[in-house]
Amino acid sequence: MTTHLAVDVGGTQLRAACYPSDSLTPSKINKVSTQFANSSPLERLVALISSLFPEDDRVSAIGVAAPGPVNPYQGIIYTAPNIPGWENLPLGPYLEETFGVPVLLGNDANLAALGEWRFGAGQGHHHLIYVTVSTGIGTGVIVEDRLLLGVNGLAAELGHVTVMLDGPLCGCGQRGHLEAVASGTAIAHWVEQELAEGIPSTLPGHQKLTAREVAQAAKQGDKLAIAALARAGTFLGHALADFLHAFNPSIIIVGGGVSRSGDLLMKPIHDCLKERVISPHYLDDLILTTSSLRDEAGLLGALALARSLKA
Ligand SMILES: [Zn+2]
Repeated sequence: MTTHLAVDVGGTQLRAACYPSDSLTPSKINKVSTQFANSSPLERLVALISSLFPEDDRVSAIGVAAPGPVNPYQGIIYTAPNIPGWENLPLGPYLEETFGVPVLLGNDANLAALGEWRFGAGQGHHHLIYVTVSTGIGTGVIVEDRLLLGVNGLAAELGHVTVMLDGPLCGCGQRGHLEAVASGTAIAHWVEQELAEGIPSTLPGHQKLTAREVAQAAKQGDKLAIAALARAGTFLGHALADFLHAFNPSIIIVGGGVSRSGDLLMKPIHDCLKERVISPHYLDDLILTTSSLRDEAGLLGALALARSLKA
């Protein structure tokens, strides 16, 4: 028996699980908050992995899903936007030295795409686009049965394509990116602005909203909340039509918390794709669906990466 460890590094939570060979059910799983007094995120991560390390089995590899731009070839996290101090951090080599086993590192959205492709909604497809819509927008692309990485592993950052010249400021510092108008954060912010303009809604004005609150109001028929999701879906559709032109996939998988709004988000995406593609044949064999691994996509993607290492 060999075992693989999968780790999902988030700004608020570190999760790790231990998977026996050929199983998607972890033998052990644990999570801790990323930031806590008296210990650094790196110390907490090492302690978490140590707590899962099996005594009797050989660990073949550790797969790590990390936020922000990473270099998967060198195991370096260039920046982790929500983890202070993680700049140019050689996390892969550090964990390899600490635990004495191979460590493979990837961007979390890329690995979620890999997870959906190997174990989820994308199984059997050779060309796939995964887009996660939550606090930000992340993407991963499978082309001809391979995760698209690019020369430094920075490819497929489709949350940062420009959909509105001089549009709102994006988390990356540029303007008008898809993430700045269609992420969960952007949806909530747009509703707050509309409420401030006096647009009627069941949602309360003059306070910070979350995308989850907007989604709940939309499900109960609130017109402003429905319009907010439709607006985000339309922007996503515009960008995804361009992605169809670039990658011609057979499946688009939409994940992240906002995708749980179902048709309120997915129908506007679909309508926009139909309107925007330069040939209807882009849609001939296209499946547009939501994630099947949901919150496990990152962890199972890290597992898929760890298992990709040939013994
Ligand atoms: Zn951006």
